[in-house]
Amino acid sequence: MISHAYSTELMHTISRQFNASLDLNEVMGRVLQLTVKATGAMRGSLFLLDEQGHVTHYILARPEQAPEISQQNVARVMAEGLSGWVYRRQQEVLVGDTSTDERWIRLNNDTETTNAALAVPLLYQDRVNGVLVLHHEQAHFFDESHLALVTSIAGQAAIAVENARLFTQIKHERENLEALITGIPIPVLVVDAQERIIFSNKAARQLFLLAHVGEPLLAVEGGAAIKTALDKTRQNPTQPHIEIRWPDERVFSISTNDTPRLGTVITLNDITELKKLDEMKTVFVETVSHDLRNPLATIHGFATLLQREQLSERGRSNLAGLMQGVTQIQSLIQNLLDLARIEAKMDEQVESCDLVEITGEVLASLELQLAEKEMTLTADLPPGLPPVSGNPLRLSQVVANLVGNAIKYTPRGGRIFVGVNREEDGRIRLQVSDNGPGIPAEDQDQIFEKFYRVPTMEDSEWIEGTGLGLSIVKAVVEGYGGSVWVESELGAGSTFICIFPALPVSDEQP
Ligand code: ADP
Repeated sequence: MISHAYSTELMHTISRQFNASLDLNEVMGRVLQLTVKATGAMRGSLFLLDEQGHVTHYILARPEQAPEISQQNVARVMAEGLSGWVYRRQQEVLVGDTSTDERWIRLNNDTETTNAALAVPLLYQDRVNGVLVLHHEQAHFFDESHLALVTSIAGQAAIAVENARLFTQIKHERENLEALITGIPIPVLVVDAQERIIFSNKAARQLFLLAHVGEPLLAVEGGAAIKTALDKTRQNPTQPHIEIRWPDERVFSISTNDTPRLGTVITLNDITELKKLDEMKTVFVETVSHDLRNPLATIHGFATLLQREQLSERGRSNLAGLMQGVTQIQSLIQNLLDLARIEAKMDEQVESCDLVEITGEVLASLELQLAEKEMTLTADLPPGLPPVSGNPLRLSQVVANLVGNAIKYTPRGGRIFVGVNREEDGRIRLQVSDNGPGIPAEDQDQIFEKFYRVPTMEDSEWIEGTGLGLSIVKAVVEGYGGSVWVESELGAGSTFICIFPALPVSDEQP
């Protein structure tokens, strides 16, 4: 018989001891040990169960058994024995004499004799997450007071076990995640607000020759280059990647991501091989294009001379076809060369440009084309906007390609709107809209890819083009830290929008 006062005091001690650790094995050991001691039982066992009732962890009354025997016994008592009964009924039970209770299974070769048993479920949020069984060799050893005490202990134990289980699960997940991040061959760093390294994976430690975390970014090898990249992306968040060249000539594409609680995550992608391929492609395109240019110029020259000759109707028409073909190849070559130069960032000459002025000049040069197609042009070109940084020729090319497309793809008599404005956040926006055929939603991203032309567009087959105009627009705009996209509805028209970062307005008076 256990007194009430003893039970209450014991519960305090037990609850403190249960919560002193979050290690699942330690908590389980304590639960069993303290309960056995408090009740005067000879030994006991404890099973933890998952949501499907499968035993995930256990401590047995006979710990000396070989693991495979233990597992068989656990399965048997859960299927046919007292523990299974407690789990299924969610109910505690007192067995005064095990020899007369069919729920008690006597295991083979069992040297210990158990005549009295007591079993309780560990209930957590209406679910049995464990079963605790106590043994004694003296029949009728346990009474209702033992049962009441063990039931109270089980309530505390269920919470302690659940906490430890969750903690262990989270710890394992964290370890797995850390192993994953540490193991990936891409260098990953995390820096805090003071730009101290607070995490680095294996690849990052090798790259930076980093001895331990906690060092300031600027103190590690290559840290200064990373810091410059970090500052650049912070100044211009639309630029997702920054390239840096490592002292050993490797090229990395750095991307950064500010996470509110963690810090700034920096990943370094080794793009050396891609860069080499890209350079080879540029050289190839340049060489081939140059080699084609001269013979084409010769053909063009002779064809121009031929135009002056007296030719039959048929001859003139053939010559016109020839001239048109040559002009198209020349424009393809010019576009290819331009794209190669822009992508290779060979347009070193960037200056402060007035996009309104540039747009005005381009529109003036397109007047004839507009008139030929009887198109109405409306322009909104307010003076005094802040300048943008770029090469004026390339910016003209952007405007000319967009307006040129609007003229080309919009049927005769259509309307075009061109506007340059300042966004609310201060950036400069160029917009070119038409009321032409529109672009299907599924093609809207792809039209900016090289050589892509919308395949299903009605009547577009006869419209000449190389599929490179918008690739040039995108390469130029993104090269200057901007972005470009299209908004379009089939049958209603298309609007192309380019956003450029603005330069500070100069104080100097002209
Ligand atoms: P190109 O005009 O030489 O074919 P672009 O790269 O300039 O190449 O354009 C790619 C494709 O996008 C075009 O072939 C056309 O299908 C579509 N497109 C571009 N601008 C417009 C527009 N204003 N209206 C409708 N379709 C357009």
